[in-house]
Amino acid sequence: MVFLIVLFLNATALQAQYVNVDSLVHIPGEEYPVYINELNKFLEEQPAEDFLVGQELFDDQHIPAGNLLKHFTLPSGGRVISRYGWRSGRMHTGTDLKMDKGDTIYAVFQGTVTRSKWFSGYGNMVVIDHGMNIETSYAHLSAYLVQAGEVVRRGQPIGLAGSTGRATTNHLHFEIREAGKHFNPELVYDFEAGKVKEQVLAIQSITELLPGNQKTVSSVVGATPQNYIVSEGDSLWKISHRFKTSVKTLCLINNLDENSVLNVGMVLKLF
Ligand SMILES: [Zn+2]
Repeated sequence: MVFLIVLFLNATALQAQYVNVDSLVHIPGEEYPVYINELNKFLEEQPAEDFLVGQELFDDQHIPAGNLLKHFTLPSGGRVISRYGWRSGRMHTGTDLKMDKGDTIYAVFQGTVTRSKWFSGYGNMVVIDHGMNIETSYAHLSAYLVQAGEVVRRGQPIGLAGSTGRATTNHLHFEIREAGKHFNPELVYDFEAGKVKEQVLAIQSITELLPGNQKTVSSVVGATPQNYIVSEGDSLWKISHRFKTSVKTLCLINNLDENSVLNVGMVLKLF
């Protein structure tokens, strides 16, 4: 019995450990993978204008009044396999992107790593504080490439994809939070096109998005949707709560009654 417990503890410890220095990291656009212990040297050698690696740190004065989100890059490749929002009666607080085990995950913007450890459900998770109340999280990693307290650059490899925590397949669970409140990453990214959305590029000032102001990232970046597509686990109550309307109003403008059955894929008018 004691032997079994020791084995179990060992396995847990191993899972959360840093990856072996002999492991390889794949860098987009590079033909050959790089050894992890040579990664920092490799990053230093990159030209400053390189899109993914070697980006100079923006100093505070150089972030033009809050264009922070538009400077985000992708956290990884991979197609969306699960969207942000209600899913079978639970709130899914991020976007899931399909990965192969060991795929490289990147910091979407410069910042300070505030967490690089196991978290219930999320498995191995890295959280980066980008300043201006914005932070991003990267979960289910098979390995960490950064430690808490480290300053990272935009596009810097921070971990390798996996399926640790509550995950049925290798994928990245990616979250963006503003003042601790998560919002839909698809308001910022068009993952299919592999880029930041046009609406984000149009935002003039992040200060408009910060708490204390009326607008929030979710309302400004995404604009308030006119229609809503019903997904699994939705109910009239949930939808009205989410969009700050009432069941009565939803019923009225959609010719429904309060007992109407919602089908997945059905389009509801919100206003
Ligand atoms: Zn997820």
